[in-house]
Amino acid sequence: MMTEQREKILIQLRRRVLVEAGHRCAIPTCREMSTVDIHHIVPWKEGKEHKYENLIALCPNCHRMADNEKIDRKSLRMYKNNLRFLYDKYTIFEIDVLFDLNKLPDDKAMQFPSYLILLIKRLIETGLIEWIQTPQGVTIGGMKANPDYIKITSKGQEYIKQINTEDVGY
Ligand SMILES: [Zn+2]
Repeated sequence: MMTEQREKILIQLRRRVLVEAGHRCAIPTCREMSTVDIHHIVPWKEGKEHKYENLIALCPNCHRMADNEKIDRKSLRMYKNNLRFLYDKYTIFEIDVLFDLNKLPDDKAMQFPSYLILLIKRLIETGLIEWIQTPQGVTIGGMKANPDYIKITSKGQEYIKQINTEDVGY
């Protein structure tokens, strides 16, 4: 009975940690999504317990770096806090868009269908990205055929830099 109960807690805990990270590696510059492990910030050997505060989702690569302390515990804790902050404010889709835009060379914009702008509304409202509307072109079935463009702003770049280096916390 005891083992059954413990198992159940683990599954729920695991899910909570994975959802917190959007089922991706929690290191913002990595965000690998194919395989994600659960890492103990304070190693299992020392703590001997599975506690939500101590668990973080990492890809095998970052997991290895954490085990070798190339990513230290304090950084891991910061990443975990920042995740919560990020996912409270924006959707996973918005975060994906923001990080993809950040990878583009300076001054490059990405095509974005104007009828999907609603999905990234908060990024635009908070000024992290800029919405560049193209003049009305051909309309097909009520939808504008020529796409608009989106681009990360300097505020957006600053925001990502902050996530990668500081504890934004609450
Ligand atoms: Zn990773």
